[in-house]
Amino acid sequence: MNHDLLDPAGAQRIILDACSQGQRESCHSTAALGRLLAHPVLSASALPPFDNSAMDGYALSGGAEPLPTDSEWPIEGEQAAGDGARNGTRGAWEIMTGARMPDGLDRVIPVEQAERLEAPLRMRLLAEVAAGQNVRFAGSDVAAGETVLTAGSLLAPQHLMLLAALGVASVSVASRPRVAVLCTGRELVDDPDTPLASGQIRNSNGPFLAARIPRAGAELVHAETVSDDVDAFLAAVERTRAAGARVVISTGAVSMGRYDFVPAALQRLGAEVLFHKIAIRPGKPLLFARLPDGTLFFGLPGNPIAVAVGLRFFVEPALRAMLGLPRERPWQVPLAAAFTKKPRLHFYLKSRIEVSAQGQLAATALTGQESYRIRPLAEANAWIGIPRDAMELPVGTLVDTYGLSHLESPQWDGSGA
Ligand code: AMP
Ligand code: MG
Repeated sequence: MNHDLLDPAGAQRIILDACSQGQRESCHSTAALGRLLAHPVLSASALPPFDNSAMDGYALSGGAEPLPTDSEWPIEGEQAAGDGARNGTRGAWEIMTGARMPDGLDRVIPVEQAERLEAPLRMRLLAEVAAGQNVRFAGSDVAAGETVLTAGSLLAPQHLMLLAALGVASVSVASRPRVAVLCTGRELVDDPDTPLASGQIRNSNGPFLAARIPRAGAELVHAETVSDDVDAFLAAVERTRAAGARVVISTGAVSMGRYDFVPAALQRLGAEVLFHKIAIRPGKPLLFARLPDGTLFFGLPGNPIAVAVGLRFFVEPALRAMLGLPRERPWQVPLAAAFTKKPRLHFYLKSRIEVSAQGQLAATALTGQESYRIRPLAEANAWIGIPRDAMELPVGTLVDTYGLSHLESPQWDGSGA
């Protein structure tokens, strides 16, 4: 078997070796949705911050024994949410959910289990109530000084809820890697309102990458479309530099065709090509290089699915490393249908994970795996990776399965989402 071509795992190693963790920056908690924590968050205060009532009812005090049913207690005051500390050593206090417990009181009887009586104003217990009942104690959710979020957490709305509750105004997050996209091809038309001339097609890679890069934790700082012309391409690379890009992704012009000029352009830039071609389908001609100023360059072949695979399995691992995230681990999901392939190349398959009537997951490779076919990708919700040497995969074979985007895939090892 011909194993001269670089394995995807070997390519990913070369990429990771070329990447270093980026800067961190401070970010207002309210603007931190989707950012990755660079430092753990410790709670400066307890949550809840004070003992408070879990119910609308009456706050009382007593000893170790529950206060008995039918006992009567004078109503001494009222405590609503927002009221400050009060002294409440004797009798019952009418209390609302979330109100601070008057000092000295240690239990709450819900209003449904109490009867209010007049002349004199008092209440009767319709059930017994023990110490601590219906009280939410200070620090019972979060103790002061506790680590509440670990470094590497992808901040989701529930994390913003916690940060807001704790009064954390800003957090330290990983800076977003600055990425530029250059789509090559004289056949490409960007403006959807421009009618296509004979032989032209619309640029679909550009909008795809522009949409995916921010969702992958990076910042798109420059994007343009250039013709199949080395000088035009070099001028565009110069503009990515001016925009501060640390990663440049090009699409097209890295294969063996007459107009596949990207390798020649890189040579003129004095770039170090770290590999060109991987034993994968689609996307085999993928090229990875380092420009003299350290900028990383990914030359993805132009077919849309080669771009999707190149981004997902080679660019995104680099972004993870820059963001300080650990390597991803695929999920093992059984195949819902047999799959057959020829050896030699590692396949990345547009797939769907479906839930059976019994609630079990199974993965199906969609029909239409050719690298020009976009529609199956629009139907996919996952990728399957099939190793180079695999040929016959019966139903039920466990296969490496990945979400469509590294940050949008649940991570079971505690990293990422
Ligand atoms: P290339 O890698 O330049 O040989 O391009 C391979 C195939 O992908 C050709 O059919 C191109 O027309 C197509 N292609 C290249 N760039 C794009 C793009 N930005 N959007 C859609 N298709 C593209
Ligand atoms: Mg081309």
